[in-house]
Amino acid sequence: MTSGWKKAASIARRSVTPGKPHHAQWLITRKCNYRCVGCNVWKEQDQNELSSEEIKKGLDILRDAGIVELVISGGDPLLRPDIAEILDYASDHFVTTVYDNGSMAAKKLDALRKVDFVAISIDSLDEAKNDAIKAVPGALKSALHAVETLQKEGIRVAVTPTISQKNLYEIVDITKHFTGKGIPVWYCLYSYDTSVDSKQLFRIGKANDEFVITDKQAMISFCDQIMEMMKTNKNILMTKGLLKALRSLYKEKEARTWKCQALNHFLVVDHLGRISGCHNHNFAGSVFDLPKQWKSKEFKELRKMYHDCTQCNYLCYVAYSMYGSPKGLVSLVGDQWRNAKYLFK
Ligand code: SF4
Ligand code: SF4
Repeated sequence: MTSGWKKAASIARRSVTPGKPHHAQWLITRKCNYRCVGCNVWKEQDQNELSSEEIKKGLDILRDAGIVELVISGGDPLLRPDIAEILDYASDHFVTTVYDNGSMAAKKLDALRKVDFVAISIDSLDEAKNDAIKAVPGALKSALHAVETLQKEGIRVAVTPTISQKNLYEIVDITKHFTGKGIPVWYCLYSYDTSVDSKQLFRIGKANDEFVITDKQAMISFCDQIMEMMKTNKNILMTKGLLKALRSLYKEKEARTWKCQALNHFLVVDHLGRISGCHNHNFAGSVFDLPKQWKSKEFKELRKMYHDCTQCNYLCYVAYSMYGSPKGLVSLVGDQWRNAKYLFK
């Protein structure tokens, strides 16, 4: 069996095993070279992080715990000097996506050849606007260069705009621009941390009035437009279910279409190996203790609390909640699993 088929078989086996987490987001570093306006990470950098050996040990534990899909982010994970070793190891076991702010990918091509997706963040095709959001001159040029270089090299690259009031009216055009060139697009949604827990695992999103979506009607119409476009555009890597969930957030009197499944379908790991259901809450333990903690009374209690929580709208957590179980995966494959077609390459 080739390593690609071995990976696919192992992933298929883990995907249908109930009672296990399916998605993990590992923020392997706090280091970042950007200064994005809606982000806390760059203000709270920490030079401490796990070694590559410790990360590999943690990845083994996540794989054995049932994790199928792994998102590696930061900070900017590509700033780690050992990123090639980490991605090489991760890609053997998980459907692996790595995020980059657009500054590093073109310089790290060899590290990226095995991953399932490199997600490049571009928030506007208007240079001045994009660079103002990232607070770095030249950010758009650099990101476009990365996208073009990766595509030329045959590395699976996608563009992931964060939808906010700042760029809401441009997202359809951004989508058309990249998908027209054969580059997949999926979205993040501007959200910010509302936790009052002083031991919140780590802080990501910062409250910023300019980013909060106030034109709800435009947001509903955006969701409708994208659902329509998806009928013929296979490079929009969203699902109908996810867009309906997103729409429900902006429709008067419409209830959320999902329940949060933090620490059930998904978990997050920080740069020190601490884990939590999501980054908004206190850390619940260490990735190295996950096997004995997963079925603990403490985790059961936390799951109940998270299940009723409606504190955030981070779109990745919504997606993991909806699709991170064997039943969810069946519906996802029936709809559109953004990574499924890449598994057998
Ligand atoms: S949003 Fe990402 S790229 Fe921007 S400052 Fe925060 S961690 Fe860095
Ligand atoms: S809704 Fe879920 S992901 Fe968001 S803060 Fe609550 S527990 Fe965390």
